[in-house]
This record gives sequence, structure tokens and C-alpha cells, in this order.
Amino acid sequence: MPRSKTKQENPDLKPSIYSLTRDQLIDWSLEHGQKKFRASQIWDWLYKKRVQSFDEMTNISKDFIALLKENFDFNPLKQRIVQESADGTIKYLFELPDGMLIETVLMRQHYGLSVCVTTQVGCNIGCTFCASGLIKKQRDLNNGEITAQIMLVQKYLDDQGNGERVSHVVVMGIGEPFDNYDNVIRFLRTINDDNGLAIGARHITVSTSGLAHKIREFANEGIQVNLAVSLHAPNNELRSSIMRINRSFPLEKLFDAIEYYIQTTNRRVTFEYIMLNEVNDYPENAQELADLTKSIRKLSYVNLIPYNAVSEHDQYSRSTKERVDAFYDVLKKNGVNCVVRQEHGTDIDAACGQLRSNTMKRDRQKALAKAEKNG
Ligand code: SAH
Ligand code: SF4
Repeated sequence: MPRSKTKQENPDLKPSIYSLTRDQLIDWSLEHGQKKFRASQIWDWLYKKRVQSFDEMTNISKDFIALLKENFDFNPLKQRIVQESADGTIKYLFELPDGMLIETVLMRQHYGLSVCVTTQVGCNIGCTFCASGLIKKQRDLNNGEITAQIMLVQKYLDDQGNGERVSHVVVMGIGEPFDNYDNVIRFLRTINDDNGLAIGARHITVSTSGLAHKIREFANEGIQVNLAVSLHAPNNELRSSIMRINRSFPLEKLFDAIEYYIQTTNRRVTFEYIMLNEVNDYPENAQELADLTKSIRKLSYVNLIPYNAVSEHDQYSRSTKERVDAFYDVLKKNGVNCVVRQEHGTDIDAACGQLRSNTMKRDRQKALAKAEKNG
């Protein structure tokens, strides 16, 4: 199948209507001779009634619908694959207008329905354990493409007719959100908007590999969204060996920024720590981690994350239960708030980036088989 062209190649490609924040939609409507309430009506159709086309907006004049159509596309994503796991986790593979693939995951938690969104196609940070980092960043997603992931998952739920709502969002899919900062902030403002999806800021978490200058900027945004930092190692030597980003933002710089964030927002920070067998899971590492986070003890949590094996990174394996228990005990003895994260969707392509990379592999294999067959 020929791939459709990107925006640079194809000037006909319009932005998605989901790429406008509420304020931007109001400005655009005013600029085009409409009153502010018209924008509110459109916003309501998009995010409350959740229609799938401009034509369904029955209280908007035909002329204005035509103008909207002239300037915007509707949903920029096509659903390619949906995988449902025994525990209720659903993984979606979506196709972008330029043919690239991204994945989104819906997880059923005891507190609600949580969606994990992708922010970039590939990732340039290149952490040595991660499936997403295997593919260099091809492009940022725009905020319409990030918002559309939530809208399509919500549509999937709406179609089931059980009245279920996406209640939580984690920005933990493929990509480094702070390397696509402006689009991610616009996305957060859109899904948090009280007149739309109204997903509470405290129910949204953004995870970063540790771009210190962006953590400072995020502290100044004035939004109550949770921040998670992928730490994965308690000293510079080990962290630099598994996360290249630590060479640019070593722990001293990272923790300065985190302390600034905490002081500015008065909010807690979550540290993510993947348990890699005999790499970062020694009791001494747990003690180092406890010492590192001592000054922000009451304002931080540690999530110990089971490693999802990635076939291309076979130097890593999941820590044994004994090692996780011993690590956890050291943290607890030091008064660290910590939990071992529950897993979701282990029977489907669970790890971050795996559905996408496995689908691309399968597509490549199919193409090769076809080419061989054709001679
Ligand atoms: N780029 C951001 C957000 C996306 S990754 C970040 O790194 O924080 C989301 C989380 O998944 C990160 O904590 C990341 O370290 C973790 N992760 C990556 N690969 C994983 C794997 N194979 N198993 C378990 N967690 C993984
Ligand atoms: Fe990128 Fe996050 Fe994966 Fe690192 S862990 S390569 S930052 S997606």
C-alpha cells in the first residue's frame, strides 16, 4: 500500500480539529466572524457529545460547518489493530495520516480506566532497555494526534454502551514527552478542560526520562498534573550506562530541578525504577536510592517496575522475586514510600513500544514473504 504524504509533501493535509485548545478554538471562531458561544457549542460536540464528523453538529450553520471542513480534518487516526488481554487491558495500534504507526493502551485499574498515550514516533533518548528507543525519533506527534488517541479509546468505550469513561491518563507511551513539550502541554490543557473531557489534573501523570530544564518549565505551568521521573539507577555511573540522557542531565542537575519543581508546586514526585536483574537491583543500590531521595522523603514515591523483556535487549532480564523483596525491604527500612507496580496485559505485546515494533516486524516479514513468492 503506498504511504500517504506528510504535510510538507502534501499541502492539502489539514490540521485536526482536535489540535485546537479551547482558547484557540474561541480565537479562531472570533477571527472568522462567530461569537464565542459558537466555539463553546463546537467544543461540546467534540468532547461531550463526542460526534465523529462536522456534519453531526446540528446547531452550527451550514456555512460555518463548510468553513470548518475547509480548514480542519476530523480524527487524524485510523484504528489498525485492537488486542484485548485477559485482565481487560486493551492495546490499540493507530495509523497516522502519513502511514506511521503508534500505540495506545487502556488499563483497567481499581480506581478507574487509565489510558497510556504515545507522544512521538520513536524516541531519541535511546535508553538501553526500552523497545521504543530502538527506533530513532521520526517525528513528534502534534497535540491533535495525542488528543485523538484519547478520543478513539473513549469512542471504543462509548460504542460498548456501558457508560464507561476514561478517568486517568498516563503520558508513558512511546516517546519522551518533554522532547515534544508544547504539544504535550496543549494536549494536557485540552483533556483537562472543565467543559470537555474534564479529566482531573490529579488523574493525569507525565513521565520523563529527566530533561531537567523542562522539569523547571513544567513547574511553572500552573497545572496540577502529576510528574513521574524515570530514575532506574541511584548513581551517575550506573544511570549513564543504561540511560544516555544522564550524561547531559546527571543526577545533581536532575535533583536540583526536581527540588525546584517540588518547592514551586508543592506537589509530590514519583520515581520509576525498573528492576533489572543483577544490574540495578542490589541491596546497596536500594540504600543509595534511599539516600538520594532523603531530602525529599515526604514528597516522593518510588514505583518498582517489573521489566518487560525486549528481545533486542537480551542483556537484561527481570529481577527475581527474592531480589525485588530484598530491595523493597531496604527502601521500607529507610522510610521510603514505595510500591511494586502491578502489571497489565502480560499476555499481549505488553512493553512500551512492543505492539508497534512487533507489528512492524510482522509487516516486514509479510512483505518479504510476498516478495519471495513473487520471485
Ligand atoms: N520517555 C518517558 C515516558 C515513556 S517510557 C520516560 O522514559 O519516562 C514510560 C516508562 O516505561 C518509563 O519509566 C520507562 O523507563 C519504562 N519502560 C521502558 N521500557 C520498559 C520495559 N521494557 N519494561 C518496563 N518498563 C519500561
Ligand atoms: Fe525514550 Fe522513555 Fe524509552 Fe527512554 S524509556 S527510550 S526516554 S521512551
